[in-house]
Amino acid sequence: MRITAVRTAVVEANYDWTFVRVYSDEGLTGIGESFGAPGLSSIIRQFEPLLVGEDPSNVDALWAKMRWAASGAGSQAGIVYNAISGIEAALWDLTAQSLGVPIHKLLGGMFRDRVRIYADCHAGEALEALDPLMMARAPKWVEGAGDEPVAITSAARHPVHGRAYGPASTADIFTPEQYATRARQVVDELGFTALKFDLDVPTAYTLDTHSGTLPHGEIKYMASLVQAVREAVEDRADIAFDCHWRYNVSDAQRLCYELEPYGLMWLEDPVPPENVAAMRRVAESTKTPICSGENLYMRYGFREALETGALDIAAPDLQKTGGLLEGRRIADLADTHYTALAPHCIASPIGTIGAAHVCAAVPNFLALEWHGMSVPFWDEIATGFEGPVIEAGYITVPTGPGLGVDLDEEVARRYAKPGEPFFED
Ligand code: MG
Repeated sequence: MRITAVRTAVVEANYDWTFVRVYSDEGLTGIGESFGAPGLSSIIRQFEPLLVGEDPSNVDALWAKMRWAASGAGSQAGIVYNAISGIEAALWDLTAQSLGVPIHKLLGGMFRDRVRIYADCHAGEALEALDPLMMARAPKWVEGAGDEPVAITSAARHPVHGRAYGPASTADIFTPEQYATRARQVVDELGFTALKFDLDVPTAYTLDTHSGTLPHGEIKYMASLVQAVREAVEDRADIAFDCHWRYNVSDAQRLCYELEPYGLMWLEDPVPPENVAAMRRVAESTKTPICSGENLYMRYGFREALETGALDIAAPDLQKTGGLLEGRRIADLADTHYTALAPHCIASPIGTIGAAHVCAAVPNFLALEWHGMSVPFWDEIATGFEGPVIEAGYITVPTGPGLGVDLDEEVARRYAKPGEPFFED
């Protein structure tokens, strides 16, 4: 079997779901998904000449070929790895289909046939849809959007994550009751055993979003949000909170101390991701487990953080960090430090199922993220599943050939991002 083409399509969902399809001379195709990024689909297509004519089952050698071809453009990290990750996943789908086995069989086989999912939760009713630069947007599937763009507030014109998000307005301030209501819904109605909320949200106490500092009142308010979630779910679920790299070391330490009574599964990214020593100071100061990794690339990116104890839970994004086999390698590296794996994931079912094959195949798995609650067509865009992909907080790992799901191109086309190619069209 030889590769004949590499094509892309982008669906404007809550994020840009960026799909890769690899075509072969035997009629089989493989599908993969990359973590959306500015200019990404063009980067993916530029890898095509490196792959055409190659045997797709030499996945690792092709991965290395792509990696070193892009060495000048980002040999250690960056958007080229988002591209490579989606292509690599598509190569696994193609290879596993041609062998008649599910992808996890090629990654070591199963430790578990169901993968525990944690729900990423949002306290408000407002849409959460972001463009590749984390700016709020209103895609065409949003009720009322029609052909007219929905007005986005000026506050939402600022990136929503990291330092310097938009100025807090009272409309954006969520209450502990809102957090509790959503937590009860996710656990008691939907059946999840693990969930995560953002903790770096505007509060009435927020003073300066550029500084990385936390006033005492803001820490107390954040703790009240966490307490509300814990009291809402009691011991029925594990709870995690995300800070999106926002704080300085000492204020992150103060926050962690304040959260210790609530027994978090983890606190995610309390400090920026690029300074491992600073993250280690936070991790060593607290009983609250620190989770990080969605901005780390490949096993090399995780090495120092794992070796020095800077993170307690490793959260690679498998649509970004280098692909499915690289996810397995990161899990194994984490396992040598007795550290659990909880992959970050904002993907469609295509990327999420790809991640689920890795999660099935590694011993030290904790939970896999689901960030699709606000997308009405999240399930509809995948074919090959009877019923919903996630049931009562778990994905049953597909056992058919390849990925075990495919993209419903008719549905995908309905939500395709304007101006982007759609596979072979
Ligand atoms: Mg995060």
